[in-house]
Amino acid sequence: MAKVLRKLFRSEPGPPRLPENLLPDLVRRSPILLCLDYDGTISEIAREPRLARPVEGVLEVLRFFASHRDRVATAIVSGRALRDLRSMLPTPPGIALAGVHGLQLLDADGKIEVPPGIRDCREDLESVRAWLEHNLPAGAGFLIENKGVAIALHYRQVAPPIAGYVREAFEKFITDCTRSLQARHGKMVIEALPKIASKANALQILRERVGDEFEPVYFGDDLTDEDAFTVMTSRGVSVLVGDPRPSAARYRLAGPVEVVRTLRKVAASLES
Ligand SMILES: [Mg+2]
Repeated sequence: MAKVLRKLFRSEPGPPRLPENLLPDLVRRSPILLCLDYDGTISEIAREPRLARPVEGVLEVLRFFASHRDRVATAIVSGRALRDLRSMLPTPPGIALAGVHGLQLLDADGKIEVPPGIRDCREDLESVRAWLEHNLPAGAGFLIENKGVAIALHYRQVAPPIAGYVREAFEKFITDCTRSLQARHGKMVIEALPKIASKANALQILRERVGDEFEPVYFGDDLTDEDAFTVMTSRGVSVLVGDPRPSAARYRLAGPVEVVRTLRKVAASLES
């Protein structure tokens, strides 16, 4: 009984559902800058990062947007390294890519940019590599992903007590022993990341590129997407993807399949 009452009266934490026609209507009024996270937003989360394929229909709708760039400027904003992201998602020309939380940018014309401050992080990244080499228990299932400008430690396949212990020690090392890096937590991953990296910065750069008349629209599922949601409180449409949770996003959708369904409606609205 108590359980039923709790269910009835407790409101879901976090943002309300994205209204069905909000984006199709918006795109008729104004050009949009469409930012999409990859993992968990337009691909289902997989047991291993390399297995996370885009959900059905994504590539088609991206191709459509790429040929309507004056109405929908699209960017994939991911924590993945650019070359990794491109192998997962063979985007057509006309789609911008931001890798490693904005540290690597490939614009819609195929040019790659890395922020100049990244050089100062090299020594710290080297010390993180050495720490991992000496401190990971062999055979526990950890996966190191070296992105060049950042290093991620995946623990999806590690027994929780071991994962917890190592995660804490790794975070302490990053915080106490490096100057230029921060520890970022994602889904079953902790990352040593230059402090200058954030999806909010990536969004800022993308907005400057397309111009102020493009209304920003951002879909993301991860903690790192919250940085972008936070800077969008005054303008734009931010959408949390996944289960309800407290978030700075204005709206929410249940998962990648719903995201693609929504994008198709936006495309249809452009065609009509
Ligand atoms: Mg994600």
